[in-house]
Amino acid sequence: MKTDLDLAVIGGGASGALAALGARRAGFAGNITVFEKEEEPFRKILASGNGRCNLANYSAAEGRYHGENPGFALDILSRFPARFITGLFEEMGLLTLEDKEGRLYPRSLQARSVALILEEAVKEEGILLSYPSLVQEVVKNEGHFQIRLAGNQSVRSRALILAGGGMASPQLGGSGLPLDMLESLGHRTKTPVPALVPLLVPDHPLTRYAQGVRFRGRALLQAGNGQSRLSEGEFLIASYGLSGIAAMELGSLVSRSPGKLEIDFLPEREEAFIQKILAGKDSRPALSGLVPDKIGRALLILSDREGIPLHRLIKRLVLPVTGNRGFDFAQVAAGGVLTEDFDPDTLMSKIQDGLFACGEILDIDGDTGGFNLLWAFSSGYLAGRSAALYLMGDKS
Ligand SMILES: Cc1cc2nc3c(=O)[nH]c(=O)nc-3n(C[C@H](O)[C@H](O)[C@H](O)COP(=O)(O)OP(=O)(O)OC[C@H]3O[C@@H](n4cnc5c(N)ncnc54)[C@H](O)[C@@H]3O)c2cc1C
Repeated sequence: MKTDLDLAVIGGGASGALAALGARRAGFAGNITVFEKEEEPFRKILASGNGRCNLANYSAAEGRYHGENPGFALDILSRFPARFITGLFEEMGLLTLEDKEGRLYPRSLQARSVALILEEAVKEEGILLSYPSLVQEVVKNEGHFQIRLAGNQSVRSRALILAGGGMASPQLGGSGLPLDMLESLGHRTKTPVPALVPLLVPDHPLTRYAQGVRFRGRALLQAGNGQSRLSEGEFLIASYGLSGIAAMELGSLVSRSPGKLEIDFLPEREEAFIQKILAGKDSRPALSGLVPDKIGRALLILSDREGIPLHRLIKRLVLPVTGNRGFDFAQVAAGGVLTEDFDPDTLMSKIQDGLFACGEILDIDGDTGGFNLLWAFSSGYLAGRSAALYLMGDKS
């Protein structure tokens, strides 16, 4: 491995690969090395979308991103949107498939295809993807970034892209080290919390009698700090609480403040209609026409125990939510390095010339549906392209 680099990228994940490729596409011919600490690159891509990799989404991005300034992400995504990213993948030889909600997957429906195509594209461009290579520390020294690797190795680079991701799923590479590096280079951060993560509910008839049951419904989370968030879609009842996409989307608010959840099992129907259907009927069979049988059983037990009518429980079941399952079970981290210290036109740091950041390490997190990988790919591409222009002398 060379010890004098032009461009170093920390993180061999979604954003790091696109950053390296973006630099080449901007015409940069110098040497580029991507450092990845795991035994193989793209571990999160490989695990994403239940092994199918929901890599982007064609629906509008407005309202799908969170953080101190979601507009920062929307601005970048308007210049490098999902169609641009799928176009890039197609040029690399990866066909994609769109479902009826705009979610995009590799045509093979295998996350492995995305990882293989990216690794090959990087190789073809003469970029070194070095793994396992743990970066332990970065310091700025006489206009260069001094990068200390595990095993007492050290390299230096003219420009540096931090693409190290967030703290979610440490078993797949998630780590707080890249954020520490940005802090040591003078950047401000917002403490990361788990997002897209299952919710914890204390022992309750629903979790006791209906675990393993999926349902489509709506839930309003009222957090202890006065904030609330509505989520609609698929829920999965588990022994510890609630999982499924719609529940996980409430996870980041629970991280900041636990509270209570009001579940509507039949959002498309009025309470009066449900009351009429249930009137004078043997309850369990009648309930089974409205909700899955095991949920009906749990509601009957609750109704007997607390004297709440069934039609009310179907529309407004209140569950305490005490927390979430933490970073180990989270798909992304909310929070990260503050976007206001980066130029949205280039993703270059306003604090350190030649330093760029992209992907989940920034204080941007997206909804499920491919929005997180889309952000990683788009912001990665921009950071790489900008680093190339910076190195080639055009700092615009
Ligand atoms: C189980 C799971 C399923 C998901 N499914 C989807 C999905 O279907 N659709 C979607 O849009 N999003 C999904 N996500 C989220 C998505 O994977 C991430 O948001 C995305 O990968 C972030 O890209 P990134 O490049 O910023 O970070 P990462 O992909 O995490 O890449 C960062 C890389 O940097 C490496 N690294 C960290 N520190 C160092 C260091 N010090 N030295 C060297 N290397 C380092 C890490 O090992 C990692 O490989 C899922 C996440 C998980 C965990």
